[in-house]
Amino acid sequence: MIYDYLIIGAGLGGLSAGLNLTSKNKKVIILEKNSLPGGMVSTFKRGRFEFDTSLYDIYDYGDKENEGDFQKLLKKFDIAVDTTLIPFNVLIKDDTNFQWEIKGNFEDWVLNIEEVKKGSTSGIKEFIKITKEVNEAVKALERNEEVSEEEYPNFYKYLDKTAMDALKSLKIPLVSINMLSFLWVNMGVNLSKLNFIDYALFMYKMIFKKDVILNNKNLDFTLKLVKKYQSEGGKIYYNSEVIKVEEKDHLFIVKTKDNLEYKAKNIIGDIFKKYFFRDLDYTENKDIIKLENARSEGANGIVVFLGLNKSREELGLNYYKYYHYNNLNSDICVKYMSNLDHNTYEVIVPNVVNEEASPKNTCVVILKKLYFGDVFRNLNKMNYEEIKENIAQDLINKFENDFGIDILEYIEEIEIATPLTILRYSGSLNGSLFGYSKKGYDGVINRLINYQDEEIPKISFVGASSVLGSGADNAFRSGVLVTDRLLKKGDDKDE
Ligand SMILES: Cc1cc2nc3c(=O)[nH]c(=O)nc-3n(C[C@H](O)[C@H](O)[C@H](O)COP(=O)(O)OP(=O)(O)OC[C@H]3O[C@@H](n4cnc5c(N)ncnc54)[C@H](O)[C@@H]3O)c2cc1C
Repeated sequence: MIYDYLIIGAGLGGLSAGLNLTSKNKKVIILEKNSLPGGMVSTFKRGRFEFDTSLYDIYDYGDKENEGDFQKLLKKFDIAVDTTLIPFNVLIKDDTNFQWEIKGNFEDWVLNIEEVKKGSTSGIKEFIKITKEVNEAVKALERNEEVSEEEYPNFYKYLDKTAMDALKSLKIPLVSINMLSFLWVNMGVNLSKLNFIDYALFMYKMIFKKDVILNNKNLDFTLKLVKKYQSEGGKIYYNSEVIKVEEKDHLFIVKTKDNLEYKAKNIIGDIFKKYFFRDLDYTENKDIIKLENARSEGANGIVVFLGLNKSREELGLNYYKYYHYNNLNSDICVKYMSNLDHNTYEVIVPNVVNEEASPKNTCVVILKKLYFGDVFRNLNKMNYEEIKENIAQDLINKFENDFGIDILEYIEEIEIATPLTILRYSGSLNGSLFGYSKKGYDGVINRLINYQDEEIPKISFVGASSVLGSGADNAFRSGVLVTDRLLKKGDDKDE
C-alpha cells in the first residue's frame, strides 16, 4: 500500500492534518509512538483521580455567539465538543508584596489597571484596536492574500517591534504594561523578546474569543478526533515509533522501531524539524540543518499534579488560577528563571470551573513552573528522582506560604512531570512546552511567509513547533492550514 500522506505523531497538529486530508479522500496513515493519541493533550489515572495534562485554557474557541477559529474548525469536521467559558478568576502576587485580584471580564481588568495607575486606559484601548487589525492582517496572510500597508498601517508599523517597545510607544506606563501582560508566562517569552504581532494575536484571542475549558477529559476529546478520522478512512497505528525516513524512486520509506516499513508520497511531521533531520537521519543538507539549529526551543517546565482529599471549598481554593512572579516585569522575571529554585509559578484549580474535575469532596491542583535553558538536562542523573521530588516539595511549600493555603497534608495522589518526562512522552525538544520560541525574528509572520518556500519538497511540519506556534488552538489549526496549502499545490499527485 502506498499512502498519499504519512503523518508522524498523533498530537493535535497530526490529528487535524489527518482529519483534513481524509475529508478530501486522501489515503492517510498516522504513526504514533505512544499507545494513545493526543501527545501533550492526554489524561492519566492515579488512584481515584483522572488528571488532564493540558487544555486548562483553550484559546480561540469562543462561545455560541462568537465562535473562534478552533471551534469553527471542529464544527467543519462535525466534531461536537462540550465546553465551559472561563471567567477571569485570578489571584496574582509577586516578591514585592504586590497583590492583585482579577475577576469578571477584560473591561474589569482594564478598570483595575486604571485604578493602580491613572492614565493607562487610552493607550490600552488603542492597543486593543491594534490587536483587531493585526488579527485581520494575519488571517489574510494565512489565506495567502495580499496585505497592503494602506489597509493595515498598524500591522506594518509594529511588524518588527517587540511587545515591550510597541506597548511603550503607545504611552502605556510600565506598571500598566506589566499588569496587562501578566499572561506572558502562557506564551513563554518575556516582553522584550516577544514579537509584538504574536503578543497582539494572543491578546486578541484572550479579549475577543475568551478562554474555555473542556467539560470532558482530554483523552475523550482526542479519541473523538481519532474516531472521526478513522470514520473517513484514515489509519492510525499506535506503538509505532518512526526511527528513519528514506527516499527512493520518488517515494518515502518510513521505518519504525518494530522493524516495519511504510511507503508514502508525502510526509507530515507533527514533530520539530530539528528532530526530524537529526534523529530520523533524513537529510545530508548541512545548510538546512544549520538553519534549523539556529532556532531555539521554547521554555520548558515542571508540572506537579496533585489529587487532594478535600473539596476546593474546604481548602479555601477560590481562584481558578494563582500566579506568583519573582517580579511582575517579565524581563526582570526571566533573569531568575534558569535557576531551579526561582519563585515564578502558576497554580490551576480546575474544580473552580468544572466541579466534576475530580470525585466528590476532592479536588485537583496543578502547579506549573517554567524554566529557560537546559537546567534539567544538566542535572546529575544519579540524583534525578531526589531533585525532582525536592523541586515539587519546594513548589508546594512556596504556594502554601505565598497564598496561605494548606494543601500538603491533603495530598492523596501526586505525579511530577519534568522536561525529561515531556521530552520522552511527546518528543518535544528539550521538553519545550512552546515548540520553538517566538523570540525576535522567529514569530508567526516569518513562519507564515517562509513556509511558502519549504526547503524539502513533499515534507511538511505541523503542530506547536510549526507555522502558527504553540498552544492547542495553534497546533490544531496548523494541521489544517498546512494541508490546505499542500492540497492546493496538488502535492499528492504522482510524479
Ligand atoms: C503541561 C502542559 C500544559 C499545557 N496547557 C495548555 C493549555 O492550557 N492550553 C493550550 O492551548 N496549550 C497548552 N499546552 C500546549 C499544547 O498542549 C501543545 O501546544 C499542543 O498540544 C501540541 O500539539 P502538537 O501537535 O505539537 O503535538 P504534541 O502534543 O507535541 O505531539 C506530538 C506527537 O508526536 C509523537 N511522536 C514524536 N516523535 C515520534 C516518532 N518518532 N514516531 C511516532 N510518533 C512520534 C508523540 O508521541 C506525540 O503524540 C500545554 C502543554 C503541556 C505539556
